[in-house]
Amino acid sequence: MKVFKFGGASVKSAEGVRNLKYIVEDQIEGGLFVIISAMGKTTNALENVLELFMKGESTAALAAFAEIEQYHNTIISDLFEGKPVPATITRLYNECRTILSSSKPIAEDYEKWYDAIVSYGELISTTIISEYLNASGVRNHWVDMRKCFITDARFKYANVDIESSTVLLSKEIAESKEQLFIGQGFIGATIGGQTTTLGREGSDYSAAVTASILDAESVTIWKDVVGILNADPKIFPETEYIPELTYLDAIELAYSGAQIIHPKTIKPLQNKNIPLYVRPFGDKQAPGSVIKAEIDRPIDVPILILKRNQVLLTIRPADFSFVLEERLAQIFTMLEEFNIKTNLIQTSAVSMTLAVDHSRYLDEVVASFHAKGFHVAYNDGMELLTIRGYRTPQLEKYSRNDNVYLAQRTRRIVRIVRKEGSAIY
Ligand code: ASP
Ligand code: MG
Repeated sequence: MKVFKFGGASVKSAEGVRNLKYIVEDQIEGGLFVIISAMGKTTNALENVLELFMKGESTAALAAFAEIEQYHNTIISDLFEGKPVPATITRLYNECRTILSSSKPIAEDYEKWYDAIVSYGELISTTIISEYLNASGVRNHWVDMRKCFITDARFKYANVDIESSTVLLSKEIAESKEQLFIGQGFIGATIGGQTTTLGREGSDYSAAVTASILDAESVTIWKDVVGILNADPKIFPETEYIPELTYLDAIELAYSGAQIIHPKTIKPLQNKNIPLYVRPFGDKQAPGSVIKAEIDRPIDVPILILKRNQVLLTIRPADFSFVLEERLAQIFTMLEEFNIKTNLIQTSAVSMTLAVDHSRYLDEVVASFHAKGFHVAYNDGMELLTIRGYRTPQLEKYSRNDNVYLAQRTRRIVRIVRKEGSAIY
């Protein structure tokens, strides 16, 4: 069995869906499990629908959802050459509309509603693609991942329970006579059957977990890139292609904010020694890059990763307790409660400074620290630059700037926190 994953950008149009068919159709033998994201920017659009819904603006939410339907119907009409929208898809539209028009949301259930609504992006995309492949002679089995991935109840950021999911997913495969499976990225369900999502960009993680459960021979993420580069070409003018990376390189890269793969993707693959390929969607002949346990060619270029939308948070116990000796566990428990993701830490005697991802709960976090006897100061609108394997020129270029608020340096890695937009890359 092999696992392929296609992201939203790849399947944003009818042409993209046809190209997906062209990539998969000669790879089915031996079993192929295809994980697909929502089409184009559908997840963002559904997040907008959710915001309106949560504000009680049901009519506006339905209107915004109608635009999402329209976008998909255009793709459907191209793929199915004007035939009516398949019933499986109108059923999904109706389900989501029913949620939007009949429920009265309460704010505490925000994350639950998020998952109930935003998951329709993947349900719709996979249904369209599965129907299209079947209609064009590429037989496949549509898998409802809500019935195969059992997750915890951490809505919006759920984790898959591998043990119970193994039983369900394996059974789904064993009972089907097909060799090609089409399943949603990004979604699962609690043991009680409530839909969950796995965190933005979580489809990579879905593919990795699927591969791990099925003991797949490999995972391939098809993307609009030639492979893995040493920096994001949208930010850095000069980039280089890296043909091979180790799991260790990849997990560090992904965690520091490189947009190639979701950070949670690597662990399940490393644990089972399954190689991960990143290959260009537009050129199925090209090799792309591979991530695996051992590589033949060590990486010999510095890797630059910029993580935006950071907050630099300084937390200090008001009673002058030593932060590392007495308050460490408490601080992290509190951050964990609000799902705050920490990217860098620096401590002094009585204070701790952290670069964290911006969060909608920032004000509540600060209030909660105040309530527990801490002083808190923060700067938002920060960015974190990580340079792995730096050389003198990069060091000089990037650490010179006045707007550096914090810098850390080891023999191989430099990390710099500065005001967003204050450096030219
Ligand atoms: N559709 C989801 C998102 O946009 C999941 C994914 O694409 O991986 O975040
Ligand atoms: Mg995506």
